[in-house]
Amino acid sequence: MENKIKIVFATGNSHKLQEVNEIAYGSGIEFILPPAGFNPAEIGVTFEENSLIKAKEASKISNMMSLADDSGLCVEALNGAPGIHSARYEQTPQKRIDKLLYNLSHIDNRKAKFVCAMTLVDKDGNVLNTEIGECHGEISKSQSGTNGFGYDPIFIVDNYGITMAQMSEELKNKISHRGIALSKMIKFIQKSLL
Ligand code: IMP
Repeated sequence: MENKIKIVFATGNSHKLQEVNEIAYGSGIEFILPPAGFNPAEIGVTFEENSLIKAKEASKISNMMSLADDSGLCVEALNGAPGIHSARYEQTPQKRIDKLLYNLSHIDNRKAKFVCAMTLVDKDGNVLNTEIGECHGEISKSQSGTNGFGYDPIFIVDNYGITMAQMSEELKNKISHRGIALSKMIKFIQKSLL
């Protein structure tokens, strides 16, 4: 039987856990959820800081090596907003999309990027590695596609000409900010810890 290294993935979202395990398939790494009670205060001012807060909290309550991500959408013409506030830009996913389209309605520059920071800490909370993944594109004028979540229906990915919500899960995992950051992190873990 394959001897996998187990790492806590600092999320309460089992869909996200499934996504990272799909990306990590065959790598020798298995991600597991933190114990009940994982509820970190995301008070950092950068994606890196928030991923560190989450990773430390997960290692503290599990006493295991932990990996955390923090991500969001940064729109050039809005000086990087909604950025670290992406999940709280408005109350529901649809309201967040509507607000962003409204705020860009008279703006020609629609360049944007998804950013994901990932931080890996040991069981005592010491930082082992940080990786950043970015996915560049632009905000569409209206939404299309039903896959994915969040801002996917209005994010047209550079060189693909379709929104993230029109992509298969497999393609999104390959080109997304989270997929890129995680692939780099997996390489680090394989090189240094396996
Ligand atoms: P978190 O890092 O999972 O907390 O993500 C923060 C927020 O950024 C999410 O609630 C979404 O609004 C947005 N976001 C992050 N990644 C994605 C993505 O892959 N697609 C669409 N929206 C995303």
